Amino acid sequence: MSNIDTHKNKLLNVQKRIHNACANVSRDKNSIQLIGASKTKSADLIRTFVSLGQTHFGENYLSEAIEKQANLTDLDITWHYIGQIQSNKTKLIASHFDWVHAVDRFKIAKRLNDQLDKDRPINILIQINLDNEPSKSGVKLNEALDLARQIQPLNQVRLRGLMALPKPQDNFQKQISCFTQLKNELDRINHTLNLELDTISAGMSNDLEAAIAAGSTMVRIGTDLFGTRT
Ligand SMILES: *Cc1c(COP(=O)(O)O)cnc(C)c1O
Repeated sequence: MSNIDTHKNKLLNVQKRIHNACANVSRDKNSIQLIGASKTKSADLIRTFVSLGQTHFGENYLSEAIEKQANLTDLDITWHYIGQIQSNKTKLIASHFDWVHAVDRFKIAKRLNDQLDKDRPINILIQINLDNEPSKSGVKLNEALDLARQIQPLNQVRLRGLMALPKPQDNFQKQISCFTQLKNELDRINHTLNLELDTISAGMSNDLEAAIAAGSTMVRIGTDLFGTRT
């Protein structure tokens, strides 16, 4: 099998998993956005996936991302910044990405807001640290509402929802109950603040089915699309 066929099969397989997961819970498959988590993978590989129809990509490391983006300016790609955010990098992030997933303090949202080109809004998500892991960024579940309340008045960034990167769980029910907390919190924030946040970014190669069953709208897939990372 040629390389391009290998890539195509991987993409089709992930798409099929998404479609099946949606069918199982009677959701529309078009309600899920697949994001290729392309950290450590080459610009050429991203180009190949664009030729196969994949247009959303997520990057974790800013300088690596900017270098790859410079080689892909001829393509219509929606870029998601899914890594941890250092506050001295917000200006570059604001100018190179359409979505920022891991906002976990007001200062970051405010800086993105103030440093953004006025005619180019970006979408942001509040990262929740569901398992309270010290190594991960994100607010506690019960802190998200207050952060959303603070971010809401900012007029350049668009708060769209929540994101999480939970610990791997060994069974489907545990995965579901973890992701369900996000969905419940999104509903609570919408209800309390009278918002219409519509996005949950959750689900990776190992748990996309559970994430979709629990209401995720964006899955970030690395390994199962692009192969293992070295
Ligand atoms: C690497 C990464 C992913 C993709 O993980 P896989 O298990 O390889 O699918 C998703 N989200 C974030 C934030 C990542 O860093």
